[in-house]
Amino acid sequence: MTLTMTTYVLPPAPQVSVPVVGTTERFPVRRVYCVGRNYEEHAKEMGFTGREPPFFFFKPADAVVPVNAGETGHIAYPSLTNNLHHEIELVVAIGKGGKNIQAADALSHVYGYAVGLDMTRRDLQNEMKKQGRPWEIGKSFEESAPIGPITPAAQAGDIANASIWVQVNGQDRQRSNMSKLIWNIGEFIEYMSAAWELQPGDLIYSGTPEGVAAVVVGDTLVGGVDGLETLRVTVTG
Ligand code: MN
Repeated sequence: MTLTMTTYVLPPAPQVSVPVVGTTERFPVRRVYCVGRNYEEHAKEMGFTGREPPFFFFKPADAVVPVNAGETGHIAYPSLTNNLHHEIELVVAIGKGGKNIQAADALSHVYGYAVGLDMTRRDLQNEMKKQGRPWEIGKSFEESAPIGPITPAAQAGDIANASIWVQVNGQDRQRSNMSKLIWNIGEFIEYMSAAWELQPGDLIYSGTPEGVAAVVVGDTLVGGVDGLETLRVTVTG
């Protein structure tokens, strides 16, 4: 028998992965979905009513910055912006794929949960919004998706009622509760899986509460969701 091994003209990009609580095995990342304006008070601070149907955007998988428990991650202040914002978010990690998943069945597709930051070049995003253009330049840049370790769902506690918060240099910036999601986890998985076939390895950043604001070089962000590992990140020059 002859074994044929695929060879490449360039070295293939490494598999992006996230640590998992309680094991040395890692969660391999396929896609990174994000839910827009999923808390009423954040929708209002962005100039909307908070009553619109859910909508989604992507970040590239290699925008993920995995941070180990108890460690501080580093993100470089990105180019072209003077207004880099933090958006603290619950991240849902998909363990079982599917399309047309019903909300009532959606949690059986969830592997676990983590704390994430949807870092946003707000000035560029606002310019794209104004012109009716895609958001990628504001949302989908390198190191724009820091994430802490994934806690398997069974060990994560009552995520649907967990508090979510982020401090910058020790000061509260965002503080809310997962119960304030406009579209809850089951509901946004139902919407998304009608549009795309979810696959194991997909991450979903579930939206941010009110209080988004700018960070600068040297700032340290500490974010949490009750029941999950805390995420700590420093912005470097
Ligand atoms: Mn967001």
